[in-house]
Amino acid sequence: MTDVDVVIGGGGPTALMLACELRLAGVEPVVLERLPEISQIPKGNGLIGQIVPMLDYRDLLGRLSAGSTGVGPVPRFSFGPLMLNFSKLGGSPLHILAIPQRRLEERLGERLAELGGTIHRGHELTAVTQDEERVTLDVRGPDGDYRLRARYLVGCDGAHSLVRKQAGIGFPGVTSTEISRIGRVVLPTAKITLRGREAKVPGIGKLRLMAHVSTPDGGYSLGPLAFLDKGAPRGAYIVSTREEDPAADLSAPMTFDELRDSFRRVLGADLPMTDPQLLSRIVGNSRQADRYRAGRILIAGDAAHVFGLGGSLNTGLLDAVNLGWKLAAEVQGRAPAGLLDSYQAERHPAGRRAILQSRAQKALTTLGQGGDRQPTPEGAAALRELFGDAAGQPDPLRQIGELLRQPEQMRRIGELMEGSDVRYPMPGGGDRPHPLVGKLAPDLKLKSGDGGTRVAELMRAGRGVLLDLTDGAAVAAAASAWGTARLSVITARCLTAPAPAGALFIRPDGYVAWAAGPGAADPAAGLDEALRSWIGAPPPAAGQ
Ligand SMILES: Cc1cc2nc3c(=O)[nH]c(=O)nc-3n(C[C@H](O)[C@H](O)[C@H](O)COP(=O)(O)OP(=O)(O)OC[C@H]3O[C@@H](n4cnc5c(N)ncnc54)[C@H](O)[C@@H]3O)c2cc1C
Repeated sequence: MTDVDVVIGGGGPTALMLACELRLAGVEPVVLERLPEISQIPKGNGLIGQIVPMLDYRDLLGRLSAGSTGVGPVPRFSFGPLMLNFSKLGGSPLHILAIPQRRLEERLGERLAELGGTIHRGHELTAVTQDEERVTLDVRGPDGDYRLRARYLVGCDGAHSLVRKQAGIGFPGVTSTEISRIGRVVLPTAKITLRGREAKVPGIGKLRLMAHVSTPDGGYSLGPLAFLDKGAPRGAYIVSTREEDPAADLSAPMTFDELRDSFRRVLGADLPMTDPQLLSRIVGNSRQADRYRAGRILIAGDAAHVFGLGGSLNTGLLDAVNLGWKLAAEVQGRAPAGLLDSYQAERHPAGRRAILQSRAQKALTTLGQGGDRQPTPEGAAALRELFGDAAGQPDPLRQIGELLRQPEQMRRIGELMEGSDVRYPMPGGGDRPHPLVGKLAPDLKLKSGDGGTRVAELMRAGRGVLLDLTDGAAVAAAASAWGTARLSVITARCLTAPAPAGALFIRPDGYVAWAAGPGAADPAAGLDEALRSWIGAPPPAAGQ
């Protein structure tokens, strides 16, 4: 029996991100992944949402975007069958990063190794129990079974999470009869003419590329791998269908015939495909754990929430960044009361919003298929919650489409997809908190004594930052009792105009916990409370 601080169950993207965050904070997690190597099955094609700027705040964006065909704010993006044209907004609220999930996992694994962390592959968690002091884990490893005791266990073990089930955490939501069938295939270049984002296929006509396209009998997507990966062979595609198929036998392995038959149903004709690889199915469930913590066990990523459309990697990786520094403070014995519970308080509502937009997209897609198809009750409820009266009118798809041409509505939905519409509750903000409080800190351009810098660069060490943009001494004086062990105090001039604040306290995860307005009469008001809430009481002065 070995005693450790933190075990992470699973070794997918959420686990790797969390492990990197813990290493940054000086904790050595034990990461247990049952697969002997990264799965070859095609999964995510990219990230969409606030995790993209967040990766820059950890110096990961450069390495993850190398070779990518799309990174940064995106001028247009689909919301179900509707296209949001953000170019009308003078700045897109939605970020993307095109990267195959396998590469994401490889690069996060490399980063973890640089930070001195390891992933134990071929180690499967088989049972979990806990008492007040410890979590006991049974593990089946390549050299036999063994037992670990950990102060904390984080289940990042995916949708069917053993950790979640054994911790007794419920996973309410809906199971859909819609099945997506996915594969990597070759569409022979001799038979297909490409023009921009369209492919002309004999016997079928024009098919849109890189979009979720609805047809009367379901939907399809065709993604040329060259759009994701410049080195991909010509003619190689990730293709998928989507259709209601309550009779599908999900226990049988997926076959090429099944993919071909599904394309024939949704397109009404045969798609010329060869060389099938990496065939898989996804069921369009949307579920969320009823809590993200049970005693010494926490869950994150797909273990905590599943939904089809709309960036579940965004939600999972942001869970990891939110949890990492809090769990590190807890195991290092420096966490203020309630810090670890703020993970659930902040990320559960964020997961709910992510599921809401996903259900709304699915409902609009169903309406877009035409005929007498109606969204599921959950989909209809999501449309009502997001679009109010427009969802209850005759022809709701057209009504909502018109609504989403209004810039402020388009921005609202863009921010929902980004995950930036969520404001974390922060103590001490009063009735009218500064607009940045609870939000990801903007990447302000700065000039400090060390030269030019940006907020993103200041956050790369994963420490809290007190950014003092005032000319006075009050802000630094209010924080002086904390010293520099737990906080980086940066005095700088803001080169981004107009400066949104006179001073900011940014938590290690990049979120603003406290801000003073520019020119505030008492620029340090409330700072003491914010620092105590997030990094604890100041350390005792020497000699006390
Ligand atoms: C076909 C497809 C396409 C997708 N496309 C996108 C996309 O474009 N963008 C997007 O954001 N999301 C996409 N997703 C969703 C995305 O892949 C998931 O949200 C993501 O994989 C979740 O990461 P995770 O680390 O939380 O869980 P997982 O990736 O499921 O990782 C969990 C890990 O835990 C391991 N594990 C499970 N049980 C145990 C155990 N008992 N012991 C040890 N290890 C265990 C598993 O082997 C696995 O490696 C797609 C999913 C699919 C299937």
